[in-house]
Amino acid sequence: MTEEKRYDVVIVGGGPGGLCAGLYTARANRKVICLEKYLPGGQIALTGEVEDYLGFEHIQGAELAEKFTNHAKKFGLEVAMEEVVEVYVDGEDRVARCASGNVYRGKAIILSTGGTPVKMDVPGEQEYSGKGVSYCAICDGAFFRGKVIAVVGGGDAAVEEGIFLTKFASKVIIIHRRDKLRAQKIIQQRAFDNDKVEIIWDSIVESINGDGKTVTNLSLKNVKTGETSTLEVGAIFPYLGFKPNSGMSREPLKADQGGFIITDDRMETSVKAIYACGDVRSQLVRQVTNAVGDGTTAAVAAEKYMEELEDKHASRR
Ligand code: NAP
Repeated sequence: MTEEKRYDVVIVGGGPGGLCAGLYTARANRKVICLEKYLPGGQIALTGEVEDYLGFEHIQGAELAEKFTNHAKKFGLEVAMEEVVEVYVDGEDRVARCASGNVYRGKAIILSTGGTPVKMDVPGEQEYSGKGVSYCAICDGAFFRGKVIAVVGGGDAAVEEGIFLTKFASKVIIIHRRDKLRAQKIIQQRAFDNDKVEIIWDSIVESINGDGKTVTNLSLKNVKTGETSTLEVGAIFPYLGFKPNSGMSREPLKADQGGFIITDDRMETSVKAIYACGDVRSQLVRQVTNAVGDGTTAAVAAEKYMEELEDKHASRR
């Protein structure tokens, strides 16, 4: 049986931005729910060690995600495991419709839907997904103990997760398409200083090959020389960035070329009372720190909007 439920604010996505928005909204005595497809925490729950969140010198991503969730729940945030398939405007209501058939109505909606890992789109990637191809080092790294592990990409995620994978691997080989990493300098230096990390520059993976059961090697191409080679590996972790999960709104939301949602400085999208925060939003930096900042702003802006709406209704009486 499907249900229709009413809240003041409906938050779509339970990453740090959504949970922080939930904390502020609940603390303002509003009825608020956070709808999350999996477990709350977002990307951070899948991250190994976090060391750049102020106040926590070292903490596992999953532990930080749990702390965020419990903290927000303490103020009254409700969390439900729901996959939102559509968000739309119905008069003064902002509505989230879920795959379950349930419908959540609010005066405001905050989108904190993050992104999905970019796929490599090479032969073998899909076939060996879960059989040596993984997008989550913390989830799957331990399966490849003692093996040579390839990581693809040159950003923070590739280099950080590559270093994390040295806990298990005999060697981690980072394959990058250019001759310079994009990752922060401090993270790069750690990789350069780690004896178990090797980098193959100017190269792309042309195919992921295996014996039908698991990945055994990669076909590589040097983009400068055109030279091709084979690299024996036991697993490959692509970290090519991610695509925003921004396509669920029935109302067209302004977005940048990459599909990231454009907001104003109140985190409001091009549609009144639909806000966006965290990785799904168009911005320079995608860190936990600015996701929680976005969530705070979105919650406070939504509160101001609801107060104005309520004043308008009161003055009509
Ligand atoms: P990213 O910064 O966008 O890096 C993606 C990497 O993949 C780039 O090096 C890019 O190469 C490479 N790439 C993209 N498409 C490719 C393709 N088709 N074939 C081969 N290589 C390809 O993504 P990210 O590392 O996932 O990070 C996303 C955001 O999260 C960033 O803002 C990052 O700062 C943040 N983050 C921060 C931390 C941290 O601070 N602890 C950890 C993880 C993520 P090019 O360099 O040539 O473009």
